[in-house]
Amino acid sequence: MSHPHDDPHPHQPDIEDAPLGYHETLTEALLALLRDKGVFSADELRRTLEEIDSRSPADGARLVARSWIDPAFRERLLHDVNAAARELGIDAGGIPIRAVADTEQVHNVIVCTLCSCYPRLLLGAAPDWYKSRAYRSRVVREPRAVLREFGLELPDEVQVVVHDATAELRYLVLPCRPAGTEGWDEPALAALVTRDCMIGTAMPIVPG
Ligand code: FE
Repeated sequence: MSHPHDDPHPHQPDIEDAPLGYHETLTEALLALLRDKGVFSADELRRTLEEIDSRSPADGARLVARSWIDPAFRERLLHDVNAAARELGIDAGGIPIRAVADTEQVHNVIVCTLCSCYPRLLLGAAPDWYKSRAYRSRVVREPRAVLREFGLELPDEVQVVVHDATAELRYLVLPCRPAGTEGWDEPALAALVTRDCMIGTAMPIVPG
């Protein structure tokens, strides 16, 4: 019996095998220039990238959960997500983020039709499907069909609103608080709020 690792892996190219594209070359050149000019060091760059990579949807979920139990916080969150996040010690970054609240009548979904703009500091790295051409083009044209593929079937009377994120403005969906969570504390509520709930491709589900 052969061990799977005895086989060669012809379909797993090393990442160095592909030549650098135009934008990668430009990025490398700009990085080298900024380092040489002393604008930042390689260590500072590494620490910044580590900080970005360490972010997860837990931060966004805390904001949503707090908005469910604190109406005044919800108002401030709807007015200015970045400032409201700072209240909880969360750095949402310098790019404005707008909270869009679901209601019984309206369901919000976010996309970046141009590329992959995303509230990364609140949700962590974007999933691959968010960056895919299929999602970016289809969710605008046929949001209900796309949501159905995510397992989210919305009643006909619910209006679906798609928000197109940009480099200047990003979005965070505030889903409706699910029934049956009366009296729950903030951590228990936050545990219901998944990444996809805050993109709008899922809704919080109470287990059991
Ligand atoms: Fe983008």
